[in-house]
Amino acid sequence: VTTGWHAERAWLGGEAVCRDVLITVRDGRIAAVEEGVPAGDAYRLPGLVVPGLANAHSHAFHRALRGRAQDPRDSAGDFWTWRAQMYAVAERLDPDSYRELATAVYAEMALAGITAVGEFHYLHHPAAGGRYDDPNAMGHALVDAAAVAGVRLTLLDTCYLTADVDGTPPAGPQLRFSDGDAAAWAQRASEVDAPVVGAAIHSVRAVPPDAMREVAEWAASRRAPLHLHLSEQRRENERCREVHGRTPTELCADQGVLGPRTTAVHATHLTPDDVRILGTTGTGACFCPTTERELADGIGPAGALVGYGSPLSLGTDSHAMIDLFEEARAVELNERLATGARGHHSADALLTAATAHGAAALGWDAGVLAPGRLADFVAVDTDSVRMAGIDDPVAAVVFAATAADVTTVVLGGHLVVEDGIHLAIPDTAEMLAATIATLTR
Ligand SMILES: [Zn+2]
Repeated sequence: VTTGWHAERAWLGGEAVCRDVLITVRDGRIAAVEEGVPAGDAYRLPGLVVPGLANAHSHAFHRALRGRAQDPRDSAGDFWTWRAQMYAVAERLDPDSYRELATAVYAEMALAGITAVGEFHYLHHPAAGGRYDDPNAMGHALVDAAAVAGVRLTLLDTCYLTADVDGTPPAGPQLRFSDGDAAAWAQRASEVDAPVVGAAIHSVRAVPPDAMREVAEWAASRRAPLHLHLSEQRRENERCREVHGRTPTELCADQGVLGPRTTAVHATHLTPDDVRILGTTGTGACFCPTTERELADGIGPAGALVGYGSPLSLGTDSHAMIDLFEEARAVELNERLATGARGHHSADALLTAATAHGAAALGWDAGVLAPGRLADFVAVDTDSVRMAGIDDPVAAVVFAATAADVTTVVLGGHLVVEDGIHLAIPDTAEMLAATIATLTR
């Protein structure tokens, strides 16, 4: 099947914005990209067309906490108190409610122009103990959800074995996260049926060094993406130094975890050596600035990581909000606040993080408007009150657009969102409200 899509303006990478771009799609992939061509009978995409956005780090169920963990009277409030609230939601989920919540959350992502998501999934087993008949019932609920919502899913099946760096066994709500040991994790993860299956090491808190190596070897043998939470919290760094005598990054390097197929999520509290190790091994860095500010994590050294060679990708993580434009600009704006200087990341570099680098981190041949790539692209309204009067559309989109400016989303040459409406789930807001109500009352 061949279809034609005509962009008023399209970003083709770098600083280039081209006018009257005809994108020809054949069997789900881009067959041709031609500039200066009249629309003819092609489908008209108004505004600025960019590749589909890639959300490289998601925990779908955290969406249920939006607006529910903001009480300033909680004077001890930090990452760890927030985590207790998050665990309370985690305990209530079963495959059916997980599927319903994730379907609505992924539909919200589609509306925001997201065409690929990396789900860092560790809610593997029943809260009451034991195993589901399908040991991957929870993961497969996410697969179903993404298919209905029209978002490509990379299921980052997460190994989670311990409660702390010293090997303390998991307890309470963490019990359902654990397979017991790395071999059992690998056995279950090998049976996951998802569009792309990747591996994840939850963190140095949750996976002992030997098990980290096993997970890394599993991912390497499949050439699968490997993700991990890295140095999000100072306490995690301190515990790692106490127990292992090195930083989490150094420990990962020792265990063969780092490299170009690996993405370190957060990478917030790094030493200069950590930055050099991550960059020179080509390990990607996924920043999640709206979550990192929401949880008072800190500001990571994005500019230094990029300078040493780490590809930067972006994630909405806890879904305090789902807006990759906000994530993109926050990387630059946070670094301005931290350094007192502007101009660490260009608009096109930030948009590359939100598209090509994110897609690559998730194992998708997408994120670039070029022949051969998956036909995933998004139109951003440049006539909205936020965009009116702009000059450089790439800078304006990165520094001023919101998810609400996304009008059209095309996935594999098929419309998922048109005129700001999700075609399969037109009542996305209602679905979110209903499913979250059942989990939080
Ligand atoms: Zn996370």
